Amino acid sequence: MNITNLPDPKPFRARLTAWFRRHGRDLPWRRDTSPYAVLVSEFMLQQTQVATVIPYFERWMQRFPDFATLAAAGEADVLSQWQGLGYYSRARNLHRAAKLIVERFDGNLPDDNDAIASLPGVGRYTAGAIAAFAFDRSVATVDGNIARVLARLLDHREAIDSGEGQAFIWQTAEALLPARGGRLHTSALMELGALLCTPRAPQCLLCPVREYCSAKEPEKVPLKKARARTIALDEPCAWIRRRDAILLEKQTGSRWRGMWKLPGTAPRESVPLHTAEYPFTNHRVTLRVFAGRSTKTLGENQAWICDADLDALPLTAPHRRAIRALLSRDTAAS
Ligand code: SF4
Repeated sequence: MNITNLPDPKPFRARLTAWFRRHGRDLPWRRDTSPYAVLVSEFMLQQTQVATVIPYFERWMQRFPDFATLAAAGEADVLSQWQGLGYYSRARNLHRAAKLIVERFDGNLPDDNDAIASLPGVGRYTAGAIAAFAFDRSVATVDGNIARVLARLLDHREAIDSGEGQAFIWQTAEALLPARGGRLHTSALMELGALLCTPRAPQCLLCPVREYCSAKEPEKVPLKKARARTIALDEPCAWIRRRDAILLEKQTGSRWRGMWKLPGTAPRESVPLHTAEYPFTNHRVTLRVFAGRSTKTLGENQAWICDADLDALPLTAPHRRAIRALLSRDTAAS
């Protein structure tokens, strides 16, 4: 593939890294670059903003400071620490990865491509990020920020999420790599996308590499394929109380496995006690909670959970919000 408009890599990198040294943010996973801290932060940062991740990361590192502690923890404890971040498969993969690292490598992730790539939940981007951030290797990696910066830099007018677009962006990332010092280079490129070369209103006047940039209309780049249509989903659930306990159901499906939620119910014509909307991938889910009747026979995976035990229970975020709202309503009414 022919890369046109590629900046001269050496002076480009010099400008970029000088800017990063002055303006890069002091993030907790930039202070602790151990493979464990990098892996935890990379899993948390998938689909989640930096500002949201920071308090979760700090709490997590207190609770599970290394691979061995995480590997020895129970799934409920792991999911409970993750709750609020969403996309729980990331927490389960991180837990499995910690167990594998303890079993195979005595609790220390080695600087080895095959070992890193064999971990659950580690794709091409995360493998490259671990190699760069934890082991300071000069390995290309491309996240959303880097893809946007590179597409603009080269004024690339093809969809970057197509097969060809991906190949082009990865090849460009490789062409700009330094011989060594992958951590600084990759951090700087990513930070440029996060702070200046932002999706809307890029701040080109402040950009340290603007003289190398070919973007004519940067806010119109990168191009992406047409997005899948948003699908509306209805989620009717039941609110069933017995003294100071709530009937809840543990999930077994891939979406929320191991998490608890209000039990599902047949959709009712009656007015729900609580309604809320939340996004899930390309779905817009409407959660409606109806008053239900107490039952002597519990369904599979159902249990009465005391109000006092709710905080420690791994509950899905939309259901935790619904439960809090309904408990406050009950308290106000009594
Ligand atoms: S000049 Fe503007 S578009 Fe180009 S890399 Fe810098 S911020 Fe992005």
